[in-house]
Amino acid sequence: MPDTLYIVVPCYNEEAVLPETSSRLRDKLLRMISAGIVDDSSKIMFVDDGSKDKTWEIIEALHDSDALYSAVKLSRNKGHQNALMAGIMTAMRRADVTISIDADLQDDIECLDEFIRQYNDGCDIVYGVRGDRPKDTAFKKASAQTYYRLLKILGVNVVFNHADYRLMSKRAMEGLASFREVNLFLRGIVPLIGYKSGTVTYSRGERFAGESKYPLKKMLAFAWEGVSSFSVLPMRFITILGILTFIISLGFMLYTFIMAILPGRTVPGWSTLMISIWLLGGLQLLALGVIGEYIGKIYSEIKDRPKYIIETILE
Ligand code: UDP
Ligand code: MG
Repeated sequence: MPDTLYIVVPCYNEEAVLPETSSRLRDKLLRMISAGIVDDSSKIMFVDDGSKDKTWEIIEALHDSDALYSAVKLSRNKGHQNALMAGIMTAMRRADVTISIDADLQDDIECLDEFIRQYNDGCDIVYGVRGDRPKDTAFKKASAQTYYRLLKILGVNVVFNHADYRLMSKRAMEGLASFREVNLFLRGIVPLIGYKSGTVTYSRGERFAGESKYPLKKMLAFAWEGVSSFSVLPMRFITILGILTFIISLGFMLYTFIMAILPGRTVPGWSTLMISIWLLGGLQLLALGVIGEYIGKIYSEIKDRPKYIIETILE
């Protein structure tokens, strides 16, 4: 018997796309069910992220019209990542496998078969990867590329050009459930779960209706979330800067001494001032860096991430 698939769709003020999105997804899922790729208990699960427009009314009507649609409603707007998490955690108890996808269907739904094929081949996580983005603006493309590179430099392990179009098996979802952090950056967390994973490459289309729910401000906040939740390197830079300033101050001390000895080069008080500014500056930065290192430790302890996830035990 094929496995039960839940397609999880976060929606925030998506009244403009929902009628079209729901029928396209329904059509695709029905084709997959009749082809025997997934079980006929599979569903499309909308997560209403506290929308202020008609989104929930549309979802309710869909649910009344067809048992293929199920839904979760959040009590208020909690953001894309939390909406996704709510959907995946709710689906976890009902489905064998979930695929998350944005409500605007910018991600190609014809890839769904390939996701399931890789899942049947033993992948617990399959990442949808944007091969090219002909429809994105040059700015969006460039900023996204730079961001992925920056994350890599900072030691954050993410899949290049992967957003939240992703398949997760039951045990991968259970692994995700053991991450209890409040600040969610799923693209960073999911690779930490482990297990065998695969990728599906597709070409990303345009939002067919409605507006982006990620204005620049939200995008920047999200980008910083990714850095600050996974890397203590920004803090370590302070320590390094402190050490550098301290070393420079030693050189400067030597220079000031020579200047002070040479007749007529300095005014009284210059040497002591110079040395104290550099030395104290360096020591202060160093002290801040050391405090930062401990705060970094506290941060990672408090996130209480699972230390390991066991894949197999042979007894
Ligand atoms: N979204 C959400 N809550 C929010 C913002 C966005 O659930 O607070 C959903 C939105 O409905 C969509 C997905 O997140 O399904 C991605 O948003 P969007 O397509 O606007 O982002 P973009 O593709 O422009 O980056
Ligand atoms: Mg979009």
